[in-house]
Amino acid sequence: MSHCSKCSGKTFYTRRYSGESLCSTCFKKSIIEKTRRTISKYRMIRRGERVGVALSGGKDSLSLLSVLHHLSERLGIQLVAISVDEGVKGYRDEALEHARLATSQYDMKHIIVSYKDLFGFSLDEALDWKNEERDVSSCSFCGVFRRRAIDEAAEKANVSAVASAHNLDDYIQTFMLNLLHGDVARLGWLDPAYADGSFAIRRIKPFMEIYEEEVALFAYQSGVSFQSVSCPYMHEGLRTEVRDFLNMMETTHPGMKNVLLRSSLEVISRYAKFDRKTCCRCSVCGRPTSSSLCSVCRMKTTIKQHVNYAG
Ligand code: SF4
Ligand code: ZN
Repeated sequence: MSHCSKCSGKTFYTRRYSGESLCSTCFKKSIIEKTRRTISKYRMIRRGERVGVALSGGKDSLSLLSVLHHLSERLGIQLVAISVDEGVKGYRDEALEHARLATSQYDMKHIIVSYKDLFGFSLDEALDWKNEERDVSSCSFCGVFRRRAIDEAAEKANVSAVASAHNLDDYIQTFMLNLLHGDVARLGWLDPAYADGSFAIRRIKPFMEIYEEEVALFAYQSGVSFQSVSCPYMHEGLRTEVRDFLNMMETTHPGMKNVLLRSSLEVISRYAKFDRKTCCRCSVCGRPTSSSLCSVCRMKTTIKQHVNYAG
């Protein structure tokens, strides 16, 4: 039987890319410590700040909440959970229950905003119409509103930064997808220290150096109850193929994902220097944008023409 490289306990997990074997306790500690180092390396959080945690109710975001809760005293920060109710019947309600349970366990402030209240329609209502239009994927469409909803909630919560649970796999997949879609101009958005001038609150990804597999293991090991079914509108298309390809490469060449993360960050940091283009204010909502109408207001106008709209 193999033993933990740190304490000689029974091996729970072996990192193939480093050869390190860890017992259950040391594995958990290593995830918390790795997150702390990432936060410090990219100066994501400053002492005394209020930090929002985007909490969907899935395993990744609940793990992030748990890790940041562990670190909050050491980092000298106060946490506020932020959830978005997109309005997906039979799916989001359950996820929000898991989110509520966790925040009440930690006795943490929890702000929930909904598409219905903010924009006047639920995702179900908007996609009912949009599903006939095949030009944009449901997730790209939903993502525009989701980003705005988190921004609004973050402002309401008066936080300096919002942490999302994107892990290393998410990060390198998004990098590859931007290349495959020819979206090179958007690479700068992935900069861990990105600030586009349109939003004063920093968007941070404390799990960006941790493999997806390890975040999942942490969630199971911590016994958090989370939403396991996927959103019925989720359509990952090319992302699934990119994920499978990267997983296959990692199996054959352990550590390849870490190498790709380092290369991505090198490329991204060069683009981030040039990508600061928010020239104007939206003529409807007044938010900074690169044209006269922001994407949220543009999409709302289109939806208004098709949905019995209350906003
Ligand atoms: Fe929106 Fe896609 Fe997430 Fe569903 S999976 S809530 S459509 S972003
Ligand atoms: Zn606008």
